[in-house]
Amino acid sequence: MQGKNKNFSTLAIHHGYDAQANQGALTPPVHLTSTFAFETAEAGGEMFAGERDGHFYSRISNPTLDILEKRIAILEDTEAGLALASGIGAISSTMWTLLSPGDEIIVDKTLYGCTFSFLHHGLGKFGIKVTHVDLSNHELLNDVISDNTKVVYFETPANPNMRLVDIEAVSKIAHSYNATVVVDNTYATPYLTQPIKLGADIVVHSATKYLGGHGDLVAGLIAGPKDIVTEIRLYGMKDMTGACMAPFNAMLVMRGLKTLELRMDRHCQSAMRVAKMLEANPAVEKVCYPGLASFEQFELAKKQMTAFGGMITFEVKGGVQAGINMMNKLQMIQRAVSLGDAETLVQHPASMTHSTYTPEERLEHGISDGLIRLSVGLEGVEDILDDLQQALNSIVSELPAYNVDTSASGKSQKASKKVTMK
Ligand SMILES: *Cc1c(COP(=O)(O)O)cnc(C)c1O
Repeated sequence: MQGKNKNFSTLAIHHGYDAQANQGALTPPVHLTSTFAFETAEAGGEMFAGERDGHFYSRISNPTLDILEKRIAILEDTEAGLALASGIGAISSTMWTLLSPGDEIIVDKTLYGCTFSFLHHGLGKFGIKVTHVDLSNHELLNDVISDNTKVVYFETPANPNMRLVDIEAVSKIAHSYNATVVVDNTYATPYLTQPIKLGADIVVHSATKYLGGHGDLVAGLIAGPKDIVTEIRLYGMKDMTGACMAPFNAMLVMRGLKTLELRMDRHCQSAMRVAKMLEANPAVEKVCYPGLASFEQFELAKKQMTAFGGMITFEVKGGVQAGINMMNKLQMIQRAVSLGDAETLVQHPASMTHSTYTPEERLEHGISDGLIRLSVGLEGVEDILDDLQQALNSIVSELPAYNVDTSASGKSQKASKKVTMK
């Protein structure tokens, strides 16, 4: 089934695949092949010269990946897609293609830890200038951008502190300097935000997270205009990183995409309830969730997102150690990095995903040492609330004396008793 006028889930399930062209197989065959036989020697030569369509080697393209690439392109409302081995494979293949020594890339202050490493220990080493700006205030971009700026790069919401970037406003400024705008859309997914519709040029994903959705693979995706995506395929991916996706993983990501809308609806609903419970809990110092009225960029969240996602960060009273203690008290919720899985996951960015920053860099980039990152999963929301509630109750005993009314969530039977601590 083709065509852009279909519903999101319809496209995620059907787009780019014709069962009748594949012996009626409902699910696309997984083409486990590294190479492809040429009909004639001349045909092979023509493919290498770019004069004939077709597959010739699976580091460049593969029929199973083809379908996934068409799906991510249409879900992001753009022309072309590219499937890669990981999110970092997608980001690095894009950057090696768009940037040369002497160029500048402007990036937001808050980035996923390994993206930060790639920029500073990778690109920086090869003569590319990396400039950080707080893009949550887009006006600041005007102060630093120049004709030398080739790429503007950011995440929204940003990992881990949930800051948002106004895609439309930043793209306008960047384009007036002919810079390419690349957005990491891992947190929002195209179901909640379509950055290219808002003016960005290229979207990158860690498909390991919501798109795969089941914590059973590592994968990356790119979507954007055909000419740029082809360049990334034939240079950044083919020659520079070699980070092609395995056909079996393409099948798993496509399986994940079929339920993306359903899963995201549930992630969003549950995260909203968890965020409200945390905000009302007296053991919690601060909660960042774009759907809360108290969220600093709530207006932008409503403008740019159709719902507010499944990621929450919060800090508990009593500092870093109290947060670690609370994490250790969780029973059902798993202590693990990654996100977007069926399982609710909790992690401590300062010692885990963002330990690639020095303590000084974390301070400068707004990643507090007390921050706890929660990926709200698909379990029954009452069970998620209960587990958090009992863990928070247990750390209250270590806090200075005050009365704690944990019935604030109003949702948890087991945990709604009054706790008085000395
Ligand atoms: C996980 C993550 C990445 C890296 O993706 P991998 O698939 O682990 O390589 C990049 N950006 C964001 C926002 C992420 O959460």
